Amino acid sequence: MPKPLILFDIDKTLIDTDRLRALLKQNLAQLLGRSEDEVADAFLEYGSNLPDNTAFHPEELLKLFSQRFHTPIEPLRDAFYEPSRFQQALYPEVVDVLSKLRHQGYTLGLYSQGELAWQEHKMLANNLLEFFDKNHRYIKREKADPAIIENLPENTIIIDDKPGIIAFLETFPHVIPLHIVRERANHVGEYTLSTLNDLLPILDSLRNSGSSQQ
Ligand SMILES: [Mg+2]
Repeated sequence: MPKPLILFDIDKTLIDTDRLRALLKQNLAQLLGRSEDEVADAFLEYGSNLPDNTAFHPEELLKLFSQRFHTPIEPLRDAFYEPSRFQQALYPEVVDVLSKLRHQGYTLGLYSQGELAWQEHKMLANNLLEFFDKNHRYIKREKADPAIIENLPENTIIIDDKPGIIAFLETFPHVIPLHIVRERANHVGEYTLSTLNDLLPILDSLRNSGSSQQ
């Protein structure tokens, strides 16, 4: 039997998004010579006009910063996209686990919500985009879309941190959603992951249960 496709959410699954946001605020504060509180206020002003976090668009934020702090956009952009910050926000086990899975012959993909270039940048800055099959990079403004899921191969495994997304995926019998909850205290259910390292034994047990039913 071919190995199943595995899709990964990006925010809070591969990237520590809260940490990334804090690091980018530091960069902007340093560049502007402002306090982190002043920068945090500008972030809040931008965020208050968004329907949700996944509507985040860096160019819109940088425009707001440029106007509010009377600074040209180019140096703001350089500070904002500094690759080392994206590397510091990658969860530590990610490269190792993706490498092992690829080595074991799994096809890997992305299942993420947000602005395409921004989501891809988080992977590109970490040299990770090439890990994910071009035909299976689902980065959409609204990812809880049956049209995406219905076309996935049988037994596709999808890892996500959001309970609402897991509940949505559970309505499709041909996919296997796995919940990642990085605070172990909040774990529910036997297939909850606390890091991506937990994926490897779960894949083994899924494979064994599949063969015992034959
Ligand atoms: Mg997420």
